[in-house]
Formats: sequence, C-alpha cells, structure tokens
Amino acid sequence: MTRVARGETILEVLTADITKLTLDAIVNAANQGLKGGGGVDGAIHRAAGKARLQDACRQIGSCPTGEARITPGFGLPARFVIHAVGPRWKDGSKGEDGLLAGAYRHSFRLAVEHEVRTIAFPAISTGVYGFPKERAAAIAARESLAAAEGEAFARIVLCCFSDGDALVYGKALEQEAGS
Ligand code: ADP
Repeated sequence: MTRVARGETILEVLTADITKLTLDAIVNAANQGLKGGGGVDGAIHRAAGKARLQDACRQIGSCPTGEARITPGFGLPARFVIHAVGPRWKDGSKGEDGLLAGAYRHSFRLAVEHEVRTIAFPAISTGVYGFPKERAAAIAARESLAAAEGEAFARIVLCCFSDGDALVYGKALEQEAGS
C-alpha cells in the first residue's frame, strides 16, 4: 500500500474490491450508455442493486467520454456512485490522455459539489478499454494530487484489483508526488 499526504488529504493506493469500500463515493468505470457492463461496472451494479441503479442511470441517459455523472449508491456502503467514462485506447494520438484526465477531473468536480470528502477510483480504462497501465496511472496520480490541492478531500483512494496494478499505481503516485 502506498500512502502520500498532501495538505489535509491522504492519497493512497489499495488492492481491494471497490464495492466493499465505505467511503462517501466510489467511482465507476462506466460506458457512454450508462447501461452497466462487465468488469468493475458489473460489480458495482450488482452490489448497488441492479434494478435501482439501472433506473437511476436510465433517467440520466448517457454521458460523453471524458465526463462523469452521479447517482446514489443504493445498496453499496458508499453514499454515491460517480459514473466516469474513460476513453477506449486507440494509439495514443486520439486525445486519450486528455479524455482520461477529464474523466477524473469531472468526477472530482461532482464530488466537491456533493460534499464528498472520501472517494475511491478504480483503474479507469485499463481493463477492457486497453489503456496502457503506466500511462493511465500517471494521469490518475496527477489528477488526484491536483484535486488534493483544493483541500476538499480527506481521503482519495486509487483502488486496484490486483497487487500488480497496485504496484504500478503506487509507483506513479510516488513519482508524481515527488515531481
Ligand atoms: P474499462 O472498460 O474502463 O477498461 P474495466 O472494468 O474493464 O473498465 O477495468 C477497469 C479496472 O477495474 C481494471 O483494472 C479491473 O481489474 C478493475 N476491476 C474489476 N473489478 C473490480 C472491482 N470489483 N473493484 C476494483 N476494481 C475492479
């Protein structure tokens, strides 16, 4: 586990199932249709209660890549789910970096608006969407450190699903915090 302090904020990298975390908000790696899917999206929909979360998502409609939308957490320990849509990796020249940063930035903005003090993110876009992990981790770390500067958050968790991923995200967090 990697832990970095920035002002009032603790930033940490954990290996965990994000659906089990008792925080104000967890972020979902959603798709544009907000319809639920595989990976972390499927796990969050199952744990929140499929019918209720799908209904809330249906009322929102869709979300462009690089943005996010917020719903209640329903059956989850977390009060809110922030559905962030990261980009599908193509070749790195299609604005992927900016879109992934945007997904984090928009999530943090929604979190501040809803007075969220503790929040966890999965490794957005690095599963089925194929974003290279080191590159995604650097963006996640940079955006999290920038959000910590705003002093709205007590805790920002980068929640990985394997120890290997946690190593990559932990290294990125240390590197970005030191630079
Ligand atoms: P994307 O489509 O954005 O790539 P995926 O869900 O395929 O989203 O993968 C994003 C990351 O979420 C991957 O690193 C995957 O291992 C991880 N993941 C899958 N299930 C969970 C879970 N329950 N908790 C935390 N992370 C998870």
